[in-house]
Amino acid sequence: MAAPKIKVGSGYDVHQLAEGLEMWLGGIQIESPVGFVAHSDGDVAIHALCDALLGALALGDIGHHFPDTSDEFSGIDSKKLLSRVMSMLYERGWQVGNADITIALQAPKIGKFVPQMRECLALLMGVEVDCVSVKATTTEKLGFVGRKEGCEVWATVLIYKNA
Ligand code: MG
Repeated sequence: MAAPKIKVGSGYDVHQLAEGLEMWLGGIQIESPVGFVAHSDGDVAIHALCDALLGALALGDIGHHFPDTSDEFSGIDSKKLLSRVMSMLYERGWQVGNADITIALQAPKIGKFVPQMRECLALLMGVEVDCVSVKATTTEKLGFVGRKEGCEVWATVLIYKNA
């Protein structure tokens, strides 16, 4: 049997934190006094993941497909954006192999939400939970993340297509 075709993609996103907003991260609502400033629900982890998938497909970026000037995407649940990206992937015959996501956030602590994020993202990408890694780190109080001004996320994905 021929080896499957594989591609990798990387994604990166940042959102600013502000008081009194809901915090959505990895598809899960996080108990937090601060949330993300955004046109959508601000789920910076899903945005980085979408960009990684679009990167693997060489289809541009999330801002191109879901512009923040469009009312259609105002306050949108980012899980819907991920589902739309997954449709683009399936239409072209690809499947997700695995995803690895690193979230840099000083506060609140999000470790206890990681299992739920992994389950949620695995479901949305049609893979087993052990194919989705979510890692949370602080930046040791350094930089804008350390000053609790924002959150930074990196995502890497592998996609494959049976030859
Ligand atoms: Mg974003």
